[in-house]
Amino acid sequence: MHTPPLRNLATEDPELAQLIEGEAQRQHDKLRLIPSENYVSTAVLEATGSVLTNKYSEGYTGKRYYEGQQFIDPVETLAARRAEQLFGVAHANVQPYSGSPANLAVYLAFAQPGDPVMGMALPMGGHLTHGWSVSATGKWFRPVRYSVRRETGLVDMDEVRSLALAERPKIIFCGGTAIPRTIDFPAFAEIAREVGAVLAADIAHIAGLIAGGAHPSPVGHADVITTTTHKTLRGPRGAMILSDEAHASAVDKAVFPGLQGGPHNHTTAGIAVALHEAAQPEFATYAHQVVANAKALATALGERGFDLVSGGTDNHLILVDLTSKGIGGKPAAQALDRAGIETNYNTVPYDTRKPFDPSGVRLGTPALTTRGLGEQSMPQVAAWIDEAVGAAVKEDEATLARIAGEVRDLLAGYPMPGFAAA
Ligand SMILES: *Cc1c(COP(=O)(O)O)cnc(C)c1O
Repeated sequence: MHTPPLRNLATEDPELAQLIEGEAQRQHDKLRLIPSENYVSTAVLEATGSVLTNKYSEGYTGKRYYEGQQFIDPVETLAARRAEQLFGVAHANVQPYSGSPANLAVYLAFAQPGDPVMGMALPMGGHLTHGWSVSATGKWFRPVRYSVRRETGLVDMDEVRSLALAERPKIIFCGGTAIPRTIDFPAFAEIAREVGAVLAADIAHIAGLIAGGAHPSPVGHADVITTTTHKTLRGPRGAMILSDEAHASAVDKAVFPGLQGGPHNHTTAGIAVALHEAAQPEFATYAHQVVANAKALATALGERGFDLVSGGTDNHLILVDLTSKGIGGKPAAQALDRAGIETNYNTVPYDTRKPFDPSGVRLGTPALTTRGLGEQSMPQVAAWIDEAVGAAVKEDEATLARIAGEVRDLLAGYPMPGFAAA
């Protein structure tokens, strides 16, 4: 049952209440390996579901366009101060609605339409908003894209430097959505300085690892840092832009009034709660366990003959190339889902298949680590993945159903925040 309970919703709109209950049960019963997902705490759920959603507060603390900010101002200030303290930055803007608008705000702040901007190519592990062609950021600016080396799966810093010198981008984005290895922030910073670009570190995936000390921080290297709040950071869906004093006012103006209207105050409150949680010693333990679990899962998958992009992982994420297993990423991900194991299909660098049916699946350990699973469970997880992929090749639905039952049985021993067994 969903927790907090949906008593009023069940009476007023039973159809919707049932859908939410179904999703809660699904999240409870499935092994959630999508690396951008997590389980927020019940405290975060409560803050996000509060009456703060009723309030308009365009502007910033002390400079609002609406009256009645006696409680909203301190909520937003608390969230911003906690972010500044946790990441050790001078300024945090906690208003961006999500990661994509946060990145758009960085373009608005530091580039003009048509300017060259640089980011990792989407099929190499970058994000849509780092200048991919279908994104506004690729249409309104002149994108320059860097890759990973074919042999190593690692970012080619020589290519980054020569492209930057040739194209003189106004902004360089580092970070991405499918990067299994540590991002070399100092190396990017050196190149950005050399060409006079603003370095934007997009830490959407790894913010929680950085907060917990399990990945190096871009602070002191990047001029601005964008992040979602809902991935490893384990907060509500939202985003933040962190910066030094020199870039703060441009960022603030770009977010409001440049791009957005009223901030989502209920989300801001949820972010404040998540930041408080992330500042506790247990969160550092969590972040390190996420990485330990990913390394253990990568090792176990490698032992079962899976090809991992870059050969393994330094963080929470594993990118598996299924070519040698004789199945595409999409049918594999669909079969894994039927086996109670939730992943997403993903392109691998230099993929020979199409983006809608690429060669890889992307796995991650943030959610299962929140459930309390440890390294000792990872060989079992790898065994299930292996068996399910094999069953998918043979179209063996009975095996997939059997695995789904085994997964459910294991997870019954690991409580889920937001859910109570009926
Ligand atoms: C998830 C992600 C985003 C976008 O976040 P949304 O909240 O989905 O808009 C941006 N950049 C990176 C690197 C991401 O992984």
